[in-house]
Amino acid sequence: MKTITHWIDGKPVESTSGRFGAVYDPATGAQEKQVGFASVDEVDAAVASAKAAYGSWGAASLAKRTAVLFRYRELLDAHRDEIAALITAEHGKVHSDALGEVARGMEIVELACGISVQLKGELSTEVATRVDVSSIRQPLGVVAGITPFNFPAMVPMWMFPLAIACGNTFVLKPSEKDPSASFRLAELASEAGLPDGVLNIVQGDKVAVDRILEHPDIEAVSFVGSTPIAKYIQLKAVEHGKRVQALGGAKNHMLVLPDADLDYAADQAINAAYGSAGERCMAVSVVVAVGDTGDELVGRIAERAKGLRIGPGTDPNSEMGPLITREHRDKVASYVAGAAAQGAEVVVDGTGYTVAGHEDGFFLGVSLLDKVPVTADAYRDEIFGPVLCVVRTETYDEAISLINGSRWGNGTAIFTRDGGAARRFQLEVKAGMVGVNVPIPVPVGYHSFGGWKDSLFGDLHIYGNDGIAFYTQGKVITTRWPDPSDGGINLGFPSHS
Ligand code: NAD
Repeated sequence: MKTITHWIDGKPVESTSGRFGAVYDPATGAQEKQVGFASVDEVDAAVASAKAAYGSWGAASLAKRTAVLFRYRELLDAHRDEIAALITAEHGKVHSDALGEVARGMEIVELACGISVQLKGELSTEVATRVDVSSIRQPLGVVAGITPFNFPAMVPMWMFPLAIACGNTFVLKPSEKDPSASFRLAELASEAGLPDGVLNIVQGDKVAVDRILEHPDIEAVSFVGSTPIAKYIQLKAVEHGKRVQALGGAKNHMLVLPDADLDYAADQAINAAYGSAGERCMAVSVVVAVGDTGDELVGRIAERAKGLRIGPGTDPNSEMGPLITREHRDKVASYVAGAAAQGAEVVVDGTGYTVAGHEDGFFLGVSLLDKVPVTADAYRDEIFGPVLCVVRTETYDEAISLINGSRWGNGTAIFTRDGGAARRFQLEVKAGMVGVNVPIPVPVGYHSFGGWKDSLFGDLHIYGNDGIAFYTQGKVITTRWPDPSDGGINLGFPSHS
């Protein structure tokens, strides 16, 4: 069986911890590979390599750093299909969706190629007599990233390209469920000319994560994953004096007003709820139907849901693939039965779905639950699967207070033809990313991504300007080239004249 290794100091390194995780092909349910879990010593070796590399990488010219990134972008472009195939093999999402993930990750590499413009700094001349002030941003040193299973290439690319463009060196701990894509990203970075030690990968579980959080030579940690772990990461990283951004889970609401184009809204609800089998932090998991839209909208969503083609991600005809593990699939399915018992109407029941020839795969059909009580677990929990809840409200005001009462605030969207209502929603809604007739408002690379409330712990969003701020620290320099007349003793606080 193939064993996936660490990538330390520019080469593959096998784990000697004796601990392994199983890596499945979710479409067949078979364990195809294993991944060696890092020991504390193995994490320390990765950090030592990153620390050694920082000496020259942190001081390398912008021209040298961006030359590597431009070559990297070209290599990624040439290997899109291969990376997407690795994602499909271990995550299960369909190939076209995996290609989309690679493209969205590459956006951040493209942003990183232009880092010279972003790091220009500021200069004020003659703030006082013969005094100039300049502000610059410098790298932090060794920084780390810990990433989830659902975007095994894109989420690591939200982090390391900008971090290394800013002059840091990086230690990545990818999800143990689908580790091959990020390993390949590191190999390609090396091929592009990234010096050894600038980007390291340690595979593993809580042992590796805890060592990263405690390690005295790691300055900052970016995390993306579920809310309970995000909270834990933030508290522990802060306790150890680190800068931290920890992005958590979500329950994204899509509000549909009575004046919306209901066919368009139904199409978008389907795409956003069931794409990638609902395993997206920006998936729409709740549709809030306002006024008398409910029956029409639910009817149109149900009609479309029943026609979705579910099958292996390698089959070009499949629109939705399997879930990540058998346990997760069964947990998602349990919410459908649970919701019925708690008062919801099951309009489409995807539980018990099998794909011919793939009976052991982790497949689940799509489910649509209507009139879901807000007390039901299906409404209250992040299900992270192809289960869409519909909640009905009489008015816009009721709908917005429902959304704002949610513990999460990642993404949200409004569907309407009324510009005034859309504007009001943008300003009133408590969420970090808002779509107007756009169901999955994942910002482009040059804007930042992040949620509110339990969807993000920390001050800065990820990538875009916030990402650059996160991976650099400010320094302000006040300079005087004195004239012979400028001396003299003065114990007063320096003032500007
Ligand atoms: P997860 O929290 O289980 O795992 C994320 C990372 O944390 C993995 O690398 C994992 O190995 C590590 N980890 C897991 N348990 C740990 C523990 N007890 N101690 C230390 N480290 C631990 O998340 P997941 O299941 O891989 O991913 C799905 C979750 O991620 C969903 O909740 C989804 O909403 C969220 N997510 C959020 C965003 C966002 O941008 N906000 C993006 C993608 C995914």
